[in-house]
Amino acid sequence: MSLSEIIRQQKQFYQSGKTRDVTYTLKQLTKIKQVIKANESLIYDAIMADFGKSVFETYTTELGLIYHELKILKRHLKKWRSSKKISTDLANWPGKSYLIPEPLGNTLIIGAWNYPYQLSLLPALTALAAGNTVILKPSEIARHTSRIMAQIINQNFPSGLFHVVEGGVIETTELLKNHFDKIFFTGSTHVGRIVYQAAAKNLTPVTLELGGKSPTFVLKDAPINITAKRIVWAKFLNAGQTCVAPDYILVDKSIESDFLKALSREIERQYNFKANLPENYVRIINKTNFERLHALIEPKKVYYGGQILPEQNIIKPTILHSISFEDSVMKDEIFGPILPVISYTDLNQVIHQVKNMPKPLACYVYGKNQKDIDKIINNLSFGGGMINDSVMYLTNPNLPFGGVGFSGMGSYHGKAGFDAFTHYKSLIKKTFWFEPPFKYLPYKPWKLKILKWIFE
Ligand code: NAD
Repeated sequence: MSLSEIIRQQKQFYQSGKTRDVTYTLKQLTKIKQVIKANESLIYDAIMADFGKSVFETYTTELGLIYHELKILKRHLKKWRSSKKISTDLANWPGKSYLIPEPLGNTLIIGAWNYPYQLSLLPALTALAAGNTVILKPSEIARHTSRIMAQIINQNFPSGLFHVVEGGVIETTELLKNHFDKIFFTGSTHVGRIVYQAAAKNLTPVTLELGGKSPTFVLKDAPINITAKRIVWAKFLNAGQTCVAPDYILVDKSIESDFLKALSREIERQYNFKANLPENYVRIINKTNFERLHALIEPKKVYYGGQILPEQNIIKPTILHSISFEDSVMKDEIFGPILPVISYTDLNQVIHQVKNMPKPLACYVYGKNQKDIDKIINNLSFGGGMINDSVMYLTNPNLPFGGVGFSGMGSYHGKAGFDAFTHYKSLIKKTFWFEPPFKYLPYKPWKLKILKWIFE
């Protein structure tokens, strides 16, 4: 089916008003779960083909999050879709005020490759829950998962409601020439700018879920072993190809040596590399990224790891030490299994340095001294973060997930996601039984006095 035909069908479907029927939407959400469940083995196989990723990790980082979001959406949908009564100000008395949620309309969702299912399907089913139609364009880089999503969605849903368009730059550029009522993009800051510019031509609202270098502070009173354990899990999950992974460590000089040893011990404990092909360790998605990452490993800075298996696109978990903000690994988001460690002696100075970098998607602080923790949290701007853990905050659907500045705009997950795809109409209903004279001509000093009393 041609792109223009899909877009025509989606406009027509939305105009029919079907998506406004909450019972219809709930049925579609139930169906999405059934379709995913029925195709789980194909879904697992596709991600194995793209990443070499285990069923366990695919469930915990992809399908589990999708099922959980579906549960939340279904539980709250009737409430979220209904009008809310709001208090009325004196100037409009007597009257009743309402907020009426309505879907934005025809939406376009563009996904990234690193968690190909949840980064595409989660915003898509949130958009559907809010009563929109969806064209989903997954990343072409995770090609097996893109194919599977197109297959299972396009076979099971009317293309006027929900359709997957596969493709890369050419297809996305073509899609972006059309008018949508909302564009939701996940990907790099560079492409985020392209999407934002295309959206601006039609004044289309956007949510941009972008990346960045997420700092991780390890204060001098952080318990070293548990801190290392949590950081190693968060950093090397998906081989570091996680937008909210700790990008680099800032550790107090007094514990640097013990902390580096603890990180290495934890890697050995969590990943068994005695056999050359490690179980449950994810591949780098393609040669371009593999080579980009390999070039960041400066041999004389390697504290642990550094080995590569080029045949399988595998880079073993690597820790770099004696790193400064000037090193090449500190220039852009790493997005791979390389963890640079920078030591500091003056916390204020290091906060100042991070403050001068683009606002990151996440920030993590490990430690106990509340004053130091507050200093970091209150001085830095970032999308979201954690104290004494990493990454896991995004699983809490009560917390909006999104970036700020160069790491993005807007947010989703739970109610925040519903709101991202909803317009709230403001409405006041007046009665006829009373007509205050104050605003009407002829203007009189006593009328102004009353109005001043109301407003001031
Ligand atoms: P990307 O920007 O290269 O691609 C994202 C999407 O844009 C893909 O669907 C791709 O086909 C499309 N695209 C690529 N070039 C385009 C162009 N010139 N014009 C139009 N469309 C184009 O990003 P990626 O490599 O898929 O993902 C990695 C980046 O995404 C990292 O920076 C990461 O931090 C970020 N990310 C952010 C989040 C988040 O939730 N904030 C989640 C995952 C990834």
